[in-house]
Order: sequence, then structure tokens, then C-alpha cells
Amino acid sequence: MALLVQKFGGTSVGSVERIEAVADRLCRSRNDGHDVVVVVSAMSGETNRLIALANDIMEEPTPREMDVLVSTGEQVTIALLSMALQKRGCEARSYTGSQVRILTDSAHTKARIQDIDERNMRGDLDKGRVVVVAGFQGVDEHGNITTLGRGGSDTTAVALAAALKADECQIYTDVDGVYTTDPRVVDAARRLDRITFEEMLEMASLGSKVLQIRAVEFAGKYNVPLRVLSSFKEGEGTLITFEDESTMEQPVVSGIAFNRDEAKLTISGVPDTPGIALRILKPVSDANIEVDMIVQNVGADNHTDFTFTVHRNDFRRTREILDKLASELGAREVAGDDRIAKVSIVGVGMRSHAGVATRMFEALSNEGINIRMISTSEIKISVVIDEKYLELAVRALHSAFELHTAESEAR
Ligand code: ASP
Ligand code: MG
Repeated sequence: MALLVQKFGGTSVGSVERIEAVADRLCRSRNDGHDVVVVVSAMSGETNRLIALANDIMEEPTPREMDVLVSTGEQVTIALLSMALQKRGCEARSYTGSQVRILTDSAHTKARIQDIDERNMRGDLDKGRVVVVAGFQGVDEHGNITTLGRGGSDTTAVALAAALKADECQIYTDVDGVYTTDPRVVDAARRLDRITFEEMLEMASLGSKVLQIRAVEFAGKYNVPLRVLSSFKEGEGTLITFEDESTMEQPVVSGIAFNRDEAKLTISGVPDTPGIALRILKPVSDANIEVDMIVQNVGADNHTDFTFTVHRNDFRRTREILDKLASELGAREVAGDDRIAKVSIVGVGMRSHAGVATRMFEALSNEGINIRMISTSEIKISVVIDEKYLELAVRALHSAFELHTAESEAR
């Protein structure tokens, strides 16, 4: 008998029928003897619908009122799910974030959880009830409703699991686990049985959208075993956990992440002097533009080139900043490319294996794919390539690192 926190996302509670199916599943967990706290999202599309209503009234509604509005989506699902449970003879009680008392700071629309009072939940669990909690929302010290940022129900679930010292936090979603890469790009992509927190964080920040990044960080920090699994299909899903002996035998590379959301800019012929990186990047960060990869060339004749990547949406604005800077610095030229993509291989196994980068570069070179930028960390190597080669690159790397299943190879 275990204490489980189970989270169901928007598609899993997207209609009355689906809510009933979730209730069936929860009753089964109860009958197996588990204590269950459930966290739900709003019905799929609901949060977007509410935001659109607000935007019909004004372009930038105040964040406080936005939170009052969007938190209603989850309030609907907790009530409906509790009813569906009760209909099945399974005792249940719904809680909004403020009724639990999920205390957050006052940063509306992106609040952070500060404390969770678990007494109400414990009381109900002791009486044999299923506790149904609204995800994504909390309350600040003044009683204002707050929300945790888009996708925040994952974070609610992990935070509750940490507070209750649950045996596992299970995230039920529309995919049946974390894959070696996006199955829409590589047919042979395979579900991973386990992945480490570190790898999952890299995969999430590199574009894999299975879990909210903050939820993974939180789970790693508070040591909450986290499992991603399908609410539509039976299966073990993927367990996100710490590195241990069993992960030692893991392959060198666990997964391949990619994203098309980047653009790169180069300012060339700038003076190679102390402070030049600051001169170039400060105005960019002052404009609230996030910079990802950065490369500065070895200088020649006291001049150098400087290249970096930004989100594709920020390309035009960054270019304007650089054009202005170029005349101030007497730079030779500013060039940009917004048809690039970033592909990354991720794996804790890289720490103990040499030659991983070579293998990656060889696979890309065999396909005639030109690498434009490279960056590495302890468990990741990322390259920037032309967007048109993205699928080809992901497929080539997936097979170079033998991530295919035995069956898929036979196909
Ligand atoms: N309903 C919120 C959203 O759509 C929170 C969540 O689903 O996790 O972002
Ligand atoms: Mg979600």
C-alpha cells in the first residue's frame, strides 16, 4: 500500500467521458489499497479559452485578475471528478489551491510555491477519501489567488508529493512515457523505462515537451520519484529518478532533443578588446532577449567575430540592436539566419565514455550535414544546423547511438 499523487492533464480530463474514465482508474488504485491524492488540469483548451476572453476585453489585463480568471478552469474539473468518484461509491473531496493552502509568493501568473499545509489532505486520506486538488493555482499571504505559469499543474503535483512524502508522483498524460526522441520524426523512437532527473531536465529545456521544466527541477531537488504514463493506455511509463548502479549500464546517449525555435546572428569585425562580449550582449539582455549559445572566434589583427543564438521570435529585434551597435563599434557586418535548428544528444553515460562527440560529428558528416555551431556540457552535446536537415540529423543520430529497438530494426 502506497501513497500516490496522480496528476491528470487537460486531454485526460477533456470531456465528461474522459473524467469518468479517470474516475474508474482512481477507483482501481483505491481498491488496490493505495492512498491517492489527485491533481487535475483544466479541460483541454479551457485555459486558452479563458485567456482569449480576457484579451477580448483588453490587451494586457492585470495579472491579479488574470489569475482569478484562469484558475476557474481547474475548479471545474476538481468538482466534476469528485462527483464522478462519488457516483462510483468512492469517497472524494475537492480542494482549490487556497483550500489546501498552497501558499505562494505574490508573483501573479508565475507564482512560486513557498509552503504547503498538508493537514487537510491528511485528514481526508485518513478517512479513506480520495483528495482531488486543483493544479496550477495557489494563494498568497494576503489571500489573493495566484497561478504557477502555463503547465503548472505538473509542479503542483510534484510539490504535493514532496510535502506528503508520497511514494511516487505519477503524471498521466497523452503519451505513454518519455521517448528516445519525438516518434513523429523517428518511427523507431523507443519509450525509456528510466531516465535521470538531469537528463530529463536537459531534454525538457532542449525542447521535449512532456513535463514542465520546473516540475522536474522540483522533483530532483526534493527527491520525489516521478513517473510519466499514459492515461489512455496501460503500461509502466517512464520513471524519472536518480543515477544509480542500474543507470550505470545505460547507453552513452539516452535521448535526442531538438528545436526549431532558434535563430543565429553574427556580428563580425568587432574590436577584440576586454569587455566586447559585454558591449554586445548587454543591450540584448536589457531588451529582455534570452541568448542561448555563444561563440567568439579567435581574433586576428585585433578583430574578432561574435555569433550567438536567440529565440526565433526575437530575431528581428536582436538584429536591430546589432545593426545599431555595428555602427557604434565600427563592425564589418551583421549577418543573421533564422532557418536553423538545434539538435542535441543527451546522456549521463557521456561522463564515462570518450569519443561521443566524434561519433556524433561522424554521423552528421556521413549525411553531408554542415555543423554551424557546437556547444557541450557534461551530459549534452548540441549542434546548430540548417533547419532543412533537422529530420535527417535526428534520424542519423538515433541510429548512430543505437537507440532503435530490436523490432524496429527488423522493420
Ligand atoms: N491549465 C493550465 C495550462 O493550461 C495548467 C496546466 O494544465 O498544467 O497551462
Ligand atoms: Mg499541461
